[in-house]
Amino acid sequence: MNVLYSDQYNINLGLLNYLHPFDGVKFQRIHKALEDNEKVDFLSPDVPVDMEIVDGFLSSIMRKKVRDSVFVFRALEVPKLPFVSFNFLDRKILTPMRWGVAGTMLGAEKALSSGDIYWNLSGGYHHAMQQNMEGFCIYNDIGICHQQLVKRGLLSPEDKILIIDTDAHHGNGNAYTFMDNDRVTLLDVYNAGIYPTSGYTRDRVDIPVPLPPGTEGETYLQRYNDALEKLDGDYRLAFVVAGTDVLTSDKLGGLCLTTEDVVERERLTVRALKKRSTPAVLLGGGGYSRDSAGSVIAAISACSELLPSPHAAREALSH
Ligand SMILES: [Zn+2]
Repeated sequence: MNVLYSDQYNINLGLLNYLHPFDGVKFQRIHKALEDNEKVDFLSPDVPVDMEIVDGFLSSIMRKKVRDSVFVFRALEVPKLPFVSFNFLDRKILTPMRWGVAGTMLGAEKALSSGDIYWNLSGGYHHAMQQNMEGFCIYNDIGICHQQLVKRGLLSPEDKILIIDTDAHHGNGNAYTFMDNDRVTLLDVYNAGIYPTSGYTRDRVDIPVPLPPGTEGETYLQRYNDALEKLDGDYRLAFVVAGTDVLTSDKLGGLCLTTEDVVERERLTVRALKKRSTPAVLLGGGGYSRDSAGSVIAAISACSELLPSPHAAREALSH
C-alpha cells in the first residue's frame, strides 16, 4: 500500500488541545506503527498547497474569510479566543491542513499515472466548499485537486470521477462543489440523524446510504456492500473519504462500528476499486477518537495484503 504522510500533517496546539475533541497528532502515531511494515511505502508531499491554488477554487468572499480568524474559529467549531492571532491559527492548524491537501493532490497524481491505490492519512475535508468552510473543514481538497488536475490536463472535464464517502457525516461540501457536474458520481454512507442535514446537498448524492443513529457494523457493512454493487461506470479516478468517526468511541459520529468493522469496510472499498481497476486515493476524513489511529493502522495493514507490495512491484520492474 502506498501511504502519504508528512510530519507536517500533525496539529499540536499544546495547552489549547483541550478546546476540541480532537487527536491532532494521530498521523504520527499511524506512521510510527507502520514505518517498519514492508508492505507499506510512505511518500510525502514536498510543500503545502499554495494559497494561490486554494484561491483559484474559492469564491471571492471566501478568499477573505479563510484569512480572518473570526470565520476560521467558527469553522473549527471552537470559541473565538482574543489572545490567539490569525498567524497562530495559520501556523498551527491551517498550514497542516494545506499539507493534507498537498497529500491528496500528490496521491491523486500518482494514482492516475500508475493506476494504483494511494492512501493519504490526512485530507478528506468534505464539509468545505467554494463559498463556505464548516465542520472543521477549511479547504475542500477533493474539489481543489479535481480543479488542478483538469487545469493541468491530467484529467479531462469529461472524465468520470467517483467519490465514495464513508465518514459518519454526510459530505455536503463535495455534494455542493459538484452539484452541477454529472460526471462526478457520489456514494455517501452517513448517519442521517446528525449534522449536516441540508436536503439540497443530500439530494445530490447518486447512491445515498442514510443510516439511523446507533447503527452497528453488520448493518453498516451490508448496506455499504449493497451500495458498492450499484456502481456502474468506468471511473477515471476515485476519491474515498474514509472517516473513522463511525467508531463507537467517537462522540461526534453517532454510529457503533468496531475497529474490525472499519477494517472490513476498507477491505470492501479496496476490493471494489481493484475489481473495477479504478485508480484511487483514500483520504483520512473525520475521526479523532482514541480508537481512530488504531483502526487506520489495522485497516492499512489488512488492505496491504490485498495489494501487491510496492517493494515487490519495484523489484519486478528492475529485473
Ligand atoms: Zn465526520
